[in-house]
Amino acid sequence: MYIIFALMNTKKKIEIKGLTISELEKYFLSIGDKKFRASQVFNWLYNNLVSKFEDMGTLPKGLRKKLSQDFTLETLTLKTTQSSNLSATKKFLYSTQDDYAIETVLIPGGERNTLCISTQVGCPLDCKFCATGLMGFKRNLTVGEIVDQYFLTAKDVGKNVITNIVFMGMGEPLINFQNTMAALDIFTNQHNNRISRNRITVSTSGIPENIRVLADSPYRIKLALSLHSTFDDIRSRIMPINKRFPLADVLDAIRYYSRITDTRITFEYVMLKGINDREEDIRALTKLCRSLPSKLNVIPFNSIAHMSPEGISKELVPTSLYDIDKFVTKLRDNNITVMVRDTQGDDIAAACGQLATQNIKLT
Ligand code: SAH
Ligand code: SF4
Repeated sequence: MYIIFALMNTKKKIEIKGLTISELEKYFLSIGDKKFRASQVFNWLYNNLVSKFEDMGTLPKGLRKKLSQDFTLETLTLKTTQSSNLSATKKFLYSTQDDYAIETVLIPGGERNTLCISTQVGCPLDCKFCATGLMGFKRNLTVGEIVDQYFLTAKDVGKNVITNIVFMGMGEPLINFQNTMAALDIFTNQHNNRISRNRITVSTSGIPENIRVLADSPYRIKLALSLHSTFDDIRSRIMPINKRFPLADVLDAIRYYSRITDTRITFEYVMLKGINDREEDIRALTKLCRSLPSKLNVIPFNSIAHMSPEGISKELVPTSLYDIDKFVTKLRDNNITVMVRDTQGDDIAAACGQLATQNIKLT
């Protein structure tokens, strides 16, 4: 909030979609207006999806003008949409005000249409199997840029089409933590009650301290951990962040999250031939999954060849679908709940973990 008023003193317009409802309430009180204006504005922004302040019909004209002087509604601009030929997956390419490209993917699945959103341009964590990691880190997305991936896409595809949101696009949400928290606040706000907390999943590579803060927050969304190996030495090779936060610490935080929020954890597991698809992996996974309310999401490794990988990234080979099937059957025989993720959208490089644009700057 201090930042907001500091910015306002510089007369630089700030993103109205970056504000939580309580921040907006404080703003209205600070200009001598009423608190309830905040919920009116939220209603215009997120239920009516207006793109101009003058369209906020229930606000007095003078107030609409004042808002347009203090705030901007501009965050992202839709550049192109692309549909997959193999499935109905649709990719939306947005550009930021400073011309970075962000991809947002809509993955249909019967009753459920899931939108995969990004929290950073690139990612600093350098996981060896991930296209975003190979791209490097450019910057954090603002709150407005995070939430507008959903609201602008909803405007394009129709209001009630998107049923679920997953934070599984570019970037690590728990590193752009304050902005991710504010985005969750906006998504789960009662005045904008279209996506409930159990239809939102945040995926993380495992930042223990922030997992605990998220557990203690009011949002209680679902959490997915990018596990990929139950062994520290192997995990550290493919996920350098594991050297800083070893598995034992991450799993402690995950158990805390599950206990406090009373939710089931999803473990994500990209299948890499000879690295994490061995018999000992099955034994260790079985032990881990039995030790807390969880399910395992097995993900076929999507090609990152379009990123011209080097070093270990170049050597990674997907486990064959046949071997994935055997692996999954053995786990299921051990009574572990296992899902196998479709590699939907693979042909337009839109499947999760491939979200990276070669020409990051659009100009
Ligand atoms: N940074 C967060 C969220 C974004 S990554 C995280 O790491 O969890 C979203 C998911 O895609 C993660 O589970 C990630 O491990 C997976 N992923 C990354 N690269 C992939 C690839 N090449 N093939 C399949 N899944 C991949
Ligand atoms: Fe970042 Fe997630 Fe990719 Fe790792 S898998 S580099 S944490 S986006």
